[in-house]
Amino acid sequence: MLATSALALAYTLPAPHAACGAASMLASRSLSPICLSPAASYLDGVPQGAPDAILGLAADFRASTAPNKVNLVVGAYRGSDGKPWVLPSVKEAEGRLLERGEFKEYAPIDGNARFTERALRFAYGDSAALAEGRVAGVQTLSGTGACRLAGEFYSRFLPAGTAIYVSDPTWGNHIPIMERAGLEVRRYAYLDRSTNSLDFDGLISSINDAPSGSIFLLHACAHNPTGVDPSREQWRSVSDAILAKGHHVLMDCAYQGFASGDADADASAIRFFVDAGHSLLLAQSFAKNFGLYGERVGTLSAVCASSEQAAKVLSQLKLIIRPMYSSPPIHGALIVDEVLGDAALTAQYYDECKQMADRISAMRSLLVSELGAAGSSHDWSHITDQIGMFAFTGLTPSMCDELTAKHAIFLTKDGRISIAGINPGNAATIAAAIHDVTDGKDLGG
Ligand code: PMP
Repeated sequence: MLATSALALAYTLPAPHAACGAASMLASRSLSPICLSPAASYLDGVPQGAPDAILGLAADFRASTAPNKVNLVVGAYRGSDGKPWVLPSVKEAEGRLLERGEFKEYAPIDGNARFTERALRFAYGDSAALAEGRVAGVQTLSGTGACRLAGEFYSRFLPAGTAIYVSDPTWGNHIPIMERAGLEVRRYAYLDRSTNSLDFDGLISSINDAPSGSIFLLHACAHNPTGVDPSREQWRSVSDAILAKGHHVLMDCAYQGFASGDADADASAIRFFVDAGHSLLLAQSFAKNFGLYGERVGTLSAVCASSEQAAKVLSQLKLIIRPMYSSPPIHGALIVDEVLGDAALTAQYYDECKQMADRISAMRSLLVSELGAAGSSHDWSHITDQIGMFAFTGLTPSMCDELTAKHAIFLTKDGRISIAGINPGNAATIAAAIHDVTDGKDLGG
């Protein structure tokens, strides 16, 4: 592919190539060497970049020739057959779009307004903030794009030096996203590694110890990578502590519906924080809950004090978007709009989302029972206590390495496994392998 485009380039730029003789080689369809302008020598100084911590492991999985290899790396839903699942409600919506004929015109800078309105209702519910028109919302390039935009917005409008606190641990990409936006990234306590459960006291202390006016990036539900969410009561205390210190909140909502199977229940922390009057931005992704990973559908919204303020915030978000990517893609937003705009299709969608969450939950239980059957004497109850796409197993980096090297089971080095990769056909094999690498050793974090 690359070689072909280089070939085309060479034909349109004959002079330097004639000089170095590459043209005759190209004429005989030999693909190298290509003679580039001396100006291109700066590329000699470009070093090899490190592979992405998660996507690099996914590439290792693809490259592995082990016959029984298992991918527990990437957070993408798989059915019990191990295959990706396009939700039938999404297929139905796509069919309707095709039938109606979808123009391929540009979306406005802030995206499809009707999609954004429906998407925000999905997250915020019947909140007064929405009803009063004081939420500024834009369509984004999925959750990653929403976080990036939020970072840029904070960087522009909060006082210089404002730090953003992310949970320890958090989704790996949060850190470079916020750093690239020019924010200083600090950690707040989140996981008690001795129990793989919430370090609630540590979390509250972190909030209290941070300078007033800091930003706290919270996972709305199904915390990635730990699968550990605060209880309703704990959310209340977190909210009180943040309000008392005058912090800002960025809620990252990448798994609404995935945690409990009920998209409304999973939005309860968001809705509680909105009602409590927080300084709040919400990053919303439709990758997991609608299975629209590659369509890049999401929103960023800001809860404002008035509709006038919301209009100003919206105008600034558009000014950030325009020189970055001009406008978002249209297809995925139209799908979500179609599903959420039709009561019957929405009901079908809710049912399908619940099927995904239920299967994940069943696989947690199956894995724990297979670990018992394999003879493991460790307490694995954190796997069933945790929620969402991932389990934070407590496997140490060396156990993870051994699991991959010896058993071709691929997972991130922090011991996180994507439960979606487990099915009735591979659960016993995975459990036996985990038992093999953990038997007689302490689990850590
Ligand atoms: N936030 C969190 C916590 C995530 O886990 C992810 C996906 N892994 C995202 C944001 C962004 O996902 P996407 O850009 O695919 O919506």
